[in-house]
Amino acid sequence: MSEEADLVLSDIDWLITVDNGRRVIRDAGIAVNEGRIVAVDKSAEIVKRYSGRRNLSGRSRVATPGFIDCHLHSSFQLSRGLADEAGAQSFLFERMYPYEAALEGEDVRVSATLAAAELLKHGVTCFIDPGNYHPESSIEGALSTGIRFIVSRSSFDLTKSVLGILPDRMIETTGVALERAEEVLYRYAKSGNPKLGASACFRGLNNASDALILGLRKLADQYATLLQTHACFSYSTHDSSLARTGKAEIERLEALGVIDERMLLVHSGWLEPEEVAIIARRKPSLVCAPSSSLHNGYGNFLFGKLPELMALGVNVAIGSDHASSGIVDMPQEMRLACCCYKETRVNPRVMPPETALEMATINGAKATLWGDRIGSIEVGKEADIVLFDTRRPEWQPLLNPVSNLVYSATGDSVRDVFIAGEQVVADGHLTWIDEGRLFEEVPAAVSRFKQHLKFDSMIQLRWPVS
Ligand SMILES: [Zn+2]
Repeated sequence: MSEEADLVLSDIDWLITVDNGRRVIRDAGIAVNEGRIVAVDKSAEIVKRYSGRRNLSGRSRVATPGFIDCHLHSSFQLSRGLADEAGAQSFLFERMYPYEAALEGEDVRVSATLAAAELLKHGVTCFIDPGNYHPESSIEGALSTGIRFIVSRSSFDLTKSVLGILPDRMIETTGVALERAEEVLYRYAKSGNPKLGASACFRGLNNASDALILGLRKLADQYATLLQTHACFSYSTHDSSLARTGKAEIERLEALGVIDERMLLVHSGWLEPEEVAIIARRKPSLVCAPSSSLHNGYGNFLFGKLPELMALGVNVAIGSDHASSGIVDMPQEMRLACCCYKETRVNPRVMPPETALEMATINGAKATLWGDRIGSIEVGKEADIVLFDTRRPEWQPLLNPVSNLVYSATGDSVRDVFIAGEQVVADGHLTWIDEGRLFEEVPAAVSRFKQHLKFDSMIQLRWPVS
């Protein structure tokens, strides 16, 4: 007598579980009930034991856990083409902050929906947003697609840094920034929606006072959430910190006593030896953001110490950062992470593809603080599963699926995506929203915010357009 299950996936050619034993199962099956994985085994065993209310064949498929993008600005999705060939200072203060300040809530909703759509279609089932000034609009947009989402409200309280001056609309006092951050934590940290979480965030150290950082640390503790920030992403942020405070960024955080395992430090590509030691000791999670560093030439691969920090037991995840650096595609980010470290270290062993896949799954889950719920395909976890279509040239021949996934595939071969057992991408199409209608909303949003920007000078069309 077989047991009933809501969903049975059978005949999966290759199942990459990323469980504790890192099992890869040929001809695998998965049974899902009430959103959770109840069995993972050979397909024949699963089919014998379970009868599915819904059944799907995994023939010609590679299955992986849903990817977790630990750093993606949902409000930056409409900025493609507006911030090319810009270093850290110009990127932030001449392009992205003016762009962000020009956005209204409706623009952020469209941007976040578009971001979530691109993430889902490339196999990402959960992402962390470092925040903006319209968190409700980000939530509305992201959750409308069915994705998991960790929201935050952007926090800055220093108008000027060595790097530049914030736009008027982004200027807040410490008190107001903390009050608004707490509002978001109060509403969404324990919202009752298992797909939604909240975090505390100061956007970067150079525009954050000690009082703001300490206040946000206290809030993160009170609401048992993540505390995240951008840190050490270019020599200029490092230099700016030294010029203003006399301390490098991680040294400053250490002096404030705010770094622990519930902290998420994004980038961390410019570290002094003492900062490496602090991170190894305090064990925050770090986020490698390959396409972001490559697009803006930050030098995070040339000078980054992430392979060494991983060897020292530090948790490192991956983030695609923003659409303005081009791609929002986790398989491509994984390939960049591996290959850029190999190239810059002149060492093919420095980051194997399995490490990149761990960064995109189980390490990402740990960074979200949801490590007991997501990040691997094993009994008891929520059923966040991606099926790649291997009937494509880049998956041939299929001898080592981790190699094909990281070195050859892109997110374009994602065929089906499940979140908590529910299908959010079917045959490559989103099931919760109408993509055609979403694309029609994009030009209207762009024409709304462009009026507040020196828009044409931000676009670098170097060739004549007639
Ligand atoms: Zn960022």
